[in-house]
Amino acid sequence: MKIGAAAAALIAVPSKLKAVESPLVSAPPALVPAMVEPARATRALSFVHTHTAEKLAIQYCCDGLYDTAALGKLNHLLRDFRTGDEHPIDPKLFDLLHELSVTLGAEGEAYHIISGYRSPVTNTMLQKRGGPNTGVATRSLHMVGQAIDIRMPGVKLKELRDRAAALKRGGVGYYPASNFVHVDTGRVRYW
Ligand SMILES: [Zn+2]
Repeated sequence: MKIGAAAAALIAVPSKLKAVESPLVSAPPALVPAMVEPARATRALSFVHTHTAEKLAIQYCCDGLYDTAALGKLNHLLRDFRTGDEHPIDPKLFDLLHELSVTLGAEGEAYHIISGYRSPVTNTMLQKRGGPNTGVATRSLHMVGQAIDIRMPGVKLKELRDRAAALKRGGVGYYPASNFVHVDTGRVRYW
């Protein structure tokens, strides 16, 4: 029962990432312990929500597995702050943000969240309020937990955009007038 619960609480990390972050596999045989374990590749993220003022610094991934308790806290942080609705956020989005922070040389620096998950009610409201040129799509990836709008103090918005685009891990939108960059885990595209 206990083992089953523990197994259920962990989600496998895509093997491509795991392989890149497991350099100890090639350690000399004499140094390999009886129980061979993958390298302890840990990933942490730090956030400040611009609307709720909530802060979260959390390690969400280690030993090749996502920590679902941590993912739950992240899902809550990234809830639709207007309605309180929560939705599972694609863990690949967190990997994207982690990799982005590494390439920026800003690992551990807080991302400021402008928008995470958006319920259908909120998305419709934003579309109506902003008119046709808001950039609020009818079928936004924010509505399926695959998108986040961010900025990072100390990092130029243009650099954040360029680095995110260079990762080629999904869509990247640039909104200088509102001072944020949109990233998502949909297909690779830029606007
Ligand atoms: Zn967005």
